[in-house]
Amino acid sequence: MKIKIAIIARVGAHKDFQALGLKSLVSQSHPTPFGDSNPIHVFSSQDIDFAVLSRHGEDGYQVSAPFVNDRANLYALKALGVEKILAWTAPGALNDCMLPGHLVVPDDILDESRNGPQTFFTNQGLGFIRHNPVFCPELRAQAIQTLQNGPYPFHSQGVYVATTGPRLETPAEIRKFRCLGGDLVGMTLVPEIFLARELELCYVALAYVVNFAEGLKERPYQPGILFEGLATPAELAQVQKVETGFAELALSLLPGLASTPRHCPCAWLMERYRRRGDIGEDWRTWFR
Ligand SMILES: [Zn+2]
Repeated sequence: MKIKIAIIARVGAHKDFQALGLKSLVSQSHPTPFGDSNPIHVFSSQDIDFAVLSRHGEDGYQVSAPFVNDRANLYALKALGVEKILAWTAPGALNDCMLPGHLVVPDDILDESRNGPQTFFTNQGLGFIRHNPVFCPELRAQAIQTLQNGPYPFHSQGVYVATTGPRLETPAEIRKFRCLGGDLVGMTLVPEIFLARELELCYVALAYVVNFAEGLKERPYQPGILFEGLATPAELAQVQKVETGFAELALSLLPGLASTPRHCPCAWLMERYRRRGDIGEDWRTWFR
């Protein structure tokens, strides 16, 4: 079995694929030098084997963003042979044109988070990696091409501002992020993407907007419901449509993403260290 592509997604994402009739070929957590990974489910569809990992838990929101073990999850995926990652994420919108229920393929990141650890290479001289392009350009182009034929409104660019969480942002923070050029704000892509790049993985994110960020719209505080009233029932209904269609959308993207050649820089991000002899060909030996 060759698992070259993985989908990192929302709570219980594997169940969305099972609901479409797909059966998990393997489902297990993997021990890594950085702790145990989240459970990884392997499915097969359209002659493509792919892995599915839920960041926040299998049966509910069990681990909030700053406590997701991104290093273990990415190490485990790489150990399975994964070369490409589709990261599904649910940010808020800073950009007025990005409405709840819209899809965005981000092209850049503004890291305002204090999440850690942000590297595999603690107490080592490795990891001085250029971050432009940030997301895999080949996978981004392929995803955008597929979305053009799909049912969802989407944006082919966007700057994702990363925060720590689990709390939501203050109105002043949101004003600041907008001034800085941010389009989306969320807690999940960092440090995940930076760690993926250290492992020379191609990484593309597909964001679906779940709410307008704090302070953009007049929204009274409502205790006891999701986001405490930050999103209206009508907006949440739009979001629900995308969430319901998640697995189908992912499967529509899968063949294109799986077959995209890796002419991108992603597979060579550590090449300087390899040439210098600082690291060997076996990536498992790179870490202290
Ligand atoms: Zn790439």
